[in-house]
Amino acid sequence: MHAVGIVAAAGSGLRLGADRPKALVPLGGRALVCWAVDALRAGGVSDVVVAVPAEEHAAFAAVLPPDVRLVAGGETRTASVRAALEALSDPAHPTPEVVLVHDAARPLTPPDVVARVLAALDGGARAVVPVLPVIDTTVVVDDIGVITDAVPREPLRRVQTPQGFDRAMLVASYAAIDLVADAAPFTDDAAVVRAAGIPVMTVEGDERAAKITVAHDLAVAELQVRT
Ligand code: C5P
Repeated sequence: MHAVGIVAAAGSGLRLGADRPKALVPLGGRALVCWAVDALRAGGVSDVVVAVPAEEHAAFAAVLPPDVRLVAGGETRTASVRAALEALSDPAHPTPEVVLVHDAARPLTPPDVVARVLAALDGGARAVVPVLPVIDTTVVVDDIGVITDAVPREPLRRVQTPQGFDRAMLVASYAAIDLVADAAPFTDDAAVVRAAGIPVMTVEGDERAAKITVAHDLAVAELQVRT
């Protein structure tokens, strides 16, 4: 089973308060995107395409290994992943059977998570995501912050990456959302394939695969790499 990894790294560092794209922010002295590529490789996915902000191509090329392919990302994560998927049809490279889409913002994802996703695909799943249980009491609030409902948390899961897919199915699902006028709400690839009616299987995620969004997340990750 030939797998290719896509790393979505074309976001800004706005919520992190960074002076550069989030994927270039250093963690333990190395850019987040380098950790994310290493995470995929350590889990068994050596062939990697990274979607980067178009104007930052040189800065990413300077920090990533030379065998990593770079493509210009888009305005949204969805557009960035779509651009990377298009690059997978390049006849200069073998077309993979499966694709693992990973966030550059999840640098410390353990290889076991990648391996579990690959194993589920190998076992016949067409779409698979790593998940964790919701541990806090979870509620719904109104416009002024008053609780209107409590959500039973037992069936809830937090969704992580890398998310694994049959490549042809993922490409078809992305093509199908072109027809949907409000494609903006897709925050991950599982949502795109679910919109196409494809069942998405889950495997166990890992707290260490947490997404770095705000400065506190980066501080926690710095502690992780030091221990
Ligand atoms: O913004 P958020 O942290 O949810 O983004 C998740 C991942 O998607 C990040 O790794 C980010 O770099 C990537 N992204 C992207 N293209 C965008 C926006 C986000 O590749 N236009």
